[in-house]
Amino acid sequence: MIIVMKETASEDKIQSVLHKIHDLGYKTSVIRGVNRTVIAAVGDERGKFMLQQMETLSGVDRVVPVLDPYKLASRTSQVENSIVHVNGSCVGDGWLTVIAGPCSVESLDQMMESARVVKEHGGKILRGGAFKPRTSPYSFQGLEEEGLKYLAEAGKAYGLPVVTEVVNPRDAELVVKYADMLQVGARNTQNFALLKELGQANKPVLLKRGMSSTIEELLMSAEYILSEGNSQVILCERGIRTFEKATRSTLDLSAIPVLKEKTHLPVIVDPSHAMGNWKYVPSMAKAAVAAGADGIMVEMHPRPEEALCDGEQSLKPKSFQGLMEEIRQLSVLMEKRM
Ligand code: PEP
Ligand code: MN
Repeated sequence: MIIVMKETASEDKIQSVLHKIHDLGYKTSVIRGVNRTVIAAVGDERGKFMLQQMETLSGVDRVVPVLDPYKLASRTSQVENSIVHVNGSCVGDGWLTVIAGPCSVESLDQMMESARVVKEHGGKILRGGAFKPRTSPYSFQGLEEEGLKYLAEAGKAYGLPVVTEVVNPRDAELVVKYADMLQVGARNTQNFALLKELGQANKPVLLKRGMSSTIEELLMSAEYILSEGNSQVILCERGIRTFEKATRSTLDLSAIPVLKEKTHLPVIVDPSHAMGNWKYVPSMAKAAVAAGADGIMVEMHPRPEEALCDGEQSLKPKSFQGLMEEIRQLSVLMEKRM
């Protein structure tokens, strides 16, 4: 339920409504707008009649049910677009943010070189995996803490916030020490223990769509993080599994307008993992921007032929530069800041 306070409601009135909601056993999330405060009450559906009665309290304007199962992620609970702040870089609501870097962290040199290219061409966040969720247990699994150190050092050297994946809830504390944003990979979208853990972290979360997750399931995964108190969530479409084999996955660009309607959370697109081949990445990155994405995440490696992971889908610095020039032109048309 959403409890919309009157514009004139004093802080005392807001606090007294919050107490009443807590007494009924509901968790609350307070959204303070420019003109009025809105309280989202989340909990057992059976108590909703009691919440509805709050309409009679002074200071309350109206009580509106949120019909979507994802209460906090829903546009009903927050009409305005959210902005996620990643240590100085903004994602959402009028920004077009480019996240780039290699699939995995391999050495300090590789990260320094990547960071230099990302920064030089206008990327705003550096990526690189230190814990890799590989399909085969025999593939490179990542440099772990050593990798986190290289990533953080390269980010610092070039003034770029960094994002990296957390594969296991027990690594969350360690990753939080080095990363500015925590990534949940496609293979972990419904790892609810991990989502709850990151919901308690004080860092933004980049949540990827699972290969077989519906849009609603993705939003429910976001809800796990939001309901633990972490409101800084970015959604990422990265392709879903279909019968098509010509590309690694099928990039579901139709998810962008649908998500934009259903949620206030920023939506970005990762065309690298969807296409699986660097040649197709620029077209789909531009299509994502044109469809209204708040940003893109692409894999870029200084020497893709030497990459330990996903080299075939990684852009070389030169093609990354070309893509950035085209995206900058598109950003003007889309009226977004880069
Ligand atoms: C990644 O971003 O490196 C990654 C593993 O992506 P996904 O989880 O989308 O496969
Ligand atoms: Mn990858």
